[in-house]
Amino acid sequence: MEKKEFKAESRRLLDLMIHSIYTHKEIFLRELISNASDACDKLCYQALTDGSGLNRSDLRIHLALDPEGRTLTVSDNGIGMSREDLEENLGVIASSGSFRFKQELDKDNADVDVIGQFGVGFYSAFMVADQVTVLTRKYGEDAAWKWESSGAEGYTIEEAHRDAPGTDVILHVKPDTEDEKYGEFLESWRIQELVRKYSDYIRFPIRMEISKSRKKEDSPEDKPEYETYREEETLNSMVPLWQRAKGEVTEEEYHKFYRDKFHDYADPLRVFSVSVEGAVTYRALLFIPGAAPYDYYTKDFQAGLQLYSNGVLIMDKCPDLLAEHFRFVRGVVDSPDLSLNISREMLQHDRQLKVIANNLEKRIKSELVKLRNEDRGKYETFWKHFGRQIKYGVAGDFGAHKDLLSDLLMFHSSTEKKLVSLAEYADRMKEDQKYLYYAAGESPEKVDKLPQTELLKDKGIEILYFTEEVDEFCAQVLRTYRDKEFRSVLDQELEEGDKEKAKEAAEAHKDVFAFVKDALGDKVKEVRASARLKSHPVCLTAGEGMSFEMEKYFHAVQPDAPMQADRILELNVEHPAFQALERAVNADPDRAKQYASLLYDQALLIAGLPLDDPSAFADLVSGLMV
Ligand code: ADP
Repeated sequence: MEKKEFKAESRRLLDLMIHSIYTHKEIFLRELISNASDACDKLCYQALTDGSGLNRSDLRIHLALDPEGRTLTVSDNGIGMSREDLEENLGVIASSGSFRFKQELDKDNADVDVIGQFGVGFYSAFMVADQVTVLTRKYGEDAAWKWESSGAEGYTIEEAHRDAPGTDVILHVKPDTEDEKYGEFLESWRIQELVRKYSDYIRFPIRMEISKSRKKEDSPEDKPEYETYREEETLNSMVPLWQRAKGEVTEEEYHKFYRDKFHDYADPLRVFSVSVEGAVTYRALLFIPGAAPYDYYTKDFQAGLQLYSNGVLIMDKCPDLLAEHFRFVRGVVDSPDLSLNISREMLQHDRQLKVIANNLEKRIKSELVKLRNEDRGKYETFWKHFGRQIKYGVAGDFGAHKDLLSDLLMFHSSTEKKLVSLAEYADRMKEDQKYLYYAAGESPEKVDKLPQTELLKDKGIEILYFTEEVDEFCAQVLRTYRDKEFRSVLDQELEEGDKEKAKEAAEAHKDVFAFVKDALGDKVKEVRASARLKSHPVCLTAGEGMSFEMEKYFHAVQPDAPMQADRILELNVEHPAFQALERAVNADPDRAKQYASLLYDQALLIAGLPLDDPSAFADLVSGLMV
């Protein structure tokens, strides 16, 4: 028996595997099963050409555990290896996935954590085994070979016996240490779990003998006795849902798949599949969740789609496949082009992910539009949970995604009393309406009571209610929709008639306005006659630039450095309260000062702003009662 050394480059990878600190050592099983599956595929292909009459259904992968002997065996009845194949395949890292991984590691900032994303191949067995034996016989040959290695020193090959073609890879599992319990890979439940996690969609059955228990046949019903027995079972489900034709899968199957796979209690709002053949070939099955996970709007939430290559899991959450604004989407992407076993430049790999991500982004958008058209209720549920994400998408990245996302936006409407889209608003606009009007506040109910909305309502003009901080930022970034500008009700343009009236009122009551400005001092920038108030005596309007909603937002995020919007006090000269004020200005200036302060505080309250001095306000009100 001859002892041979590994080629230098194999050695380095092997060393890395043996001393691996990689936490997901479990992927070794995925690698060995993928190799076994490839071997079965290769035999299928060969059988096609040599007319041997072999059936695909004859091929299988078999797992066997021997906890006492501490071995785990992965067997297949695939193509097998000749002596030369063994030398060539297991003695060096040929053009394999392992090779690509090694190239990556040779770069300066190599990160062991990426191991799981590559096909690290056969050598990954050394992460959990201190000795590996391969017993193999090539299809069409009589001789069988035993390859054995205990790691970096080298390997041996000797002639052996195997009844039929195929390969057994026998792992002698490392002893447990304080930090690592390698024994877990000798436990049946753990192996079943790993097969389901990584290799569920391998197209050949992965079989293993399992211990089960059953009631003894002759034991009485009221005192049942049980016995254990062993039975071989197929561990994998073989055909991925996303590879099945759409008509073949029921909605309930899709929903169950979603709930199981993504651990959600709620059914998804929408399921859609994508199948693309071209520059990059892939299939995807995507879901719009029915509810936001509790940590969705925190930095703990991990977004991403599951990435498969030919049914083998490569990455559990691949964030590169999802645009940030659609990070709530869940699902899987399967692309044979990302094959684990074919050496490709990483750059190429990234480019492919980009192409897929771009296609999916467009598709997700169109599915959301369809959802709204087909089932408004479901879209509203979606909006309740993820609307804020879409708004962030519009406002973020300097508006780079606004064209894509603006169609999805929804706001409460003053006339419809429900959520409406911008398109719906624009369609209903009066011909001569110049702007898309909005009013901001804490909730639709509160905004609805804002005095400043009265004039527009009176004229039958629809107003969008902005109730989240991000809404005004959205409007700022969008600037226009269908060529009409957004405009706050606070700075609505007045019609000539209204303007004229306000001007006349200002002139007629000049001294009252001057008095109030004087009484309030720096608290207000200006006091003026209002042309937009109908039934209310007073309101507060922000000057150019910052709005009150923005002020509240900045105050919330940075309480120490509060920025203030300009305060302009508007008075309704037709209101009896104004008339009382005017009488007091002339007859009792002290009382008039109190009125001015009262009106200002009321205006603050209506705008949802804090009073400067709440107890002074309370004293003032009770003082006026006596
Ligand atoms: P990769 O699978 O990425 O090519 P590996 O290091 O896992 O790299 O395997 C190297 C080669 O060894 C494979 O390409 C294949 O030719 C051969 N091989 C590994 N496992 C088996 C098997 N179970 N049956 C037949 N050939 C195998």
